Amino acid sequence: MSESKARVLLVEDELALADALVLSLKKMGFECSWAKTLREARELIVTESPRILVLDRQLPDGDGLDLLKDLRFRRLKVLVLSSKSSAEERIKGLERGADDYLPKPFHWDELKARLNALLRRKSEEVGGEFWSDESESPKLWQLDPDRLQVFTYQGWVVLTPLEFKFLSYVLQKPGTILSKDRLLREVWGFSLLPKTRTVDYLITQIRKRIEVEPESPKHLLTVRGAGVKFLI
Ligand code: CA
Repeated sequence: MSESKARVLLVEDELALADALVLSLKKMGFECSWAKTLREARELIVTESPRILVLDRQLPDGDGLDLLKDLRFRRLKVLVLSSKSSAEERIKGLERGADDYLPKPFHWDELKARLNALLRRKSEEVGGEFWSDESESPKLWQLDPDRLQVFTYQGWVVLTPLEFKFLSYVLQKPGTILSKDRLLREVWGFSLLPKTRTVDYLITQIRKRIEVEPESPKHLLTVRGAGVKFLI
C-alpha cells in the first residue's frame, strides 16, 4: 500500500478551497502539505520531498507553471489544478512540464483517480524501482566536490572553486558566527589580513547563486560587526 502514503504538496492560495483539498487529500490516503505561494512551495519541495504536486496557477507571486522550470531536475509528478481551463492553457501547462491538467471546477473522484493514475504511471516507468532509491535524491546544501556544486532550492548550482571552499567551510559550522578575519585565514589562507571587501564581495556572489531572494537572504547571513553565519 505504498501508494496510500505518498506525500502530496498542494500549492493553492484560495484558503477555503485549500482547506477542503487538504482534508480530501488526507481522506484519499495521501500525506498532505500546503503552500500558499510559489516561494513556500519551493521550500517545501526541498524540505518535504513530495511525490506529487497539485498546483494552482494564479498565485500571489506568479503563475504556478513558473515552478515547473525549476522542477525539471526533480523526479516529481505535477498535476495542475486551475480555472485557466481553455485547451490553449491546458496545452501550455502540459508543454511546460505538467504531467496532468485538471480544470476547476473539478470532481473530487476525478482528482483522486488522476492522482492515483500518476502514482501508477511513475512506478511503471521505472519498473517499480523508482521509490526505493531515495538515497539518490540530493539533500538541501549537499556538496558535490567533483563538480564544484551545491544542491539548493533551485537544484544543483555550480560554484567557483573559491565559492565552493567558502561554502564548504561555513556549512561545517551552521549557526556559528564566523568573523571575517577567521574566514580570511581559513578559506583564503591569508596570514596577514588585508583590509579589503573581499569577504563581502564573495558573500554577495554566493547569495546570488544559493538564495531564493539574494537581496533578503535567509541562509548566508551577515551579523553586523561580528561576521557571517550560515543557517541551514
Ligand atoms: Ca489562485
